[in-house]
Amino acid sequence: MATVCVVGAGVVGLTTATLLQEALPRASVTLIADKFGRDTTSDGAAGIFRPGLQFQGSSPQMTKQWLQDSFNYYQRLLSSPDAATAGVKHVTGYHFSSKYPKIVHNELMKPILEEYRECTPEELRQHGHKYGTFMKTLVTECRRYLPYLTRKFEAAGGVVVERHIDSLEELAGHYDVVCNCSGFGAKELCHDLTVTPIRGQVFKVHAPWIKNIYYEDYDTYIIPGFDHITLGGTRQFDSYNADINKYDALGIWERCLALVPSLMKAQVIQEWVGWRPYRPIVRVEKEVMTFDSGKTLKVVHNYGHGGYGVMTSPGTSMTAVQLVKDLLKDPRAKL
Ligand SMILES: Cc1cc2nc3c(=O)[nH]c(=O)nc-3n(C[C@H](O)[C@H](O)[C@H](O)COP(=O)(O)OP(=O)(O)OC[C@H]3O[C@@H](n4cnc5c(N)ncnc54)[C@H](O)[C@@H]3O)c2cc1C
Repeated sequence: MATVCVVGAGVVGLTTATLLQEALPRASVTLIADKFGRDTTSDGAAGIFRPGLQFQGSSPQMTKQWLQDSFNYYQRLLSSPDAATAGVKHVTGYHFSSKYPKIVHNELMKPILEEYRECTPEELRQHGHKYGTFMKTLVTECRRYLPYLTRKFEAAGGVVVERHIDSLEELAGHYDVVCNCSGFGAKELCHDLTVTPIRGQVFKVHAPWIKNIYYEDYDTYIIPGFDHITLGGTRQFDSYNADINKYDALGIWERCLALVPSLMKAQVIQEWVGWRPYRPIVRVEKEVMTFDSGKTLKVVHNYGHGGYGVMTSPGTSMTAVQLVKDLLKDPRAKL
């Protein structure tokens, strides 16, 4: 029986772990992490399916494939009875600007979404903007989705271990293949200096009358999930500040209220800060690591999703699972 270990219990690790179980039903899959659920970066994400143009795989073709595979995965989940339990739903809404005509157009979304179009003059007039697009996309709320994936993983026989890993070498000799889904943790585990935090601060509020998503320019967004609405945000490159900043909070609140004034009556549930685990190119590749001790370890990396890990984790994880299968076919691995 093949033994596979996934490091990381964020959206990338849990997605990879459950897809591994489907692809290799006879394998034993263990998931190791030092943080779970509410303590992960994934927990605070708004979970909108709306790729930034800077999201990149190893080639433009790979980027497109990951986006399409991810969208198809969530569409399948949406048409299953599990959709609400898993925290996945359709949302419609707008991206507006009065200054930058180009930024309201997203070439990565256009071929994927059922509906993605220019705003009508009436929509622009109603909302007081010069430029805008309308989209029908989907949202995945991790506060439902991570527990859903964890239950699915454990029900299929997966083992969850709480443990900090100082070096991937600790896992050598214990598993046939290790999947490294450690997000920002990969900076240390892989000595990967290209992994950089993009600090994001948001409000989680209760405002059930808000049904649409709204984006304005680059950094202002209002995204309704199931249980709350996310108001953002900030995108601060290379900032390691993990505390709530009151000036950021004031700015977010003011910008969101200007966009949708009825938010004045919203009840604040939480203020939250997270580090998007940015890497110029998301790393999904296999590697046979050799350590100073002479030990070796077969690893498939799946990290560096930046601000797009919820929406793209199914696609990158499908590639990662294929790479695990390739490594297991190696005659030195026991199947
Ligand atoms: C404000 C904000 C808004 C966002 N909005 C969206 C959005 O709308 N849509 C979207 O798609 N994405 C969004 N994101 C991005 C998304 O949150 C991330 O891309 C995603 O959560 C990354 O998932 P991950 O599993 O790689 O990392 P994480 O959730 O950080 O999980 C990493 C896991 O690895 C484990 N780990 C790391 N190092 C070690 C170690 N040494 N030993 C043991 N365990 C280790 C951790 O304990 C954890 O379990 C947003 C992010 C922020 C900050």
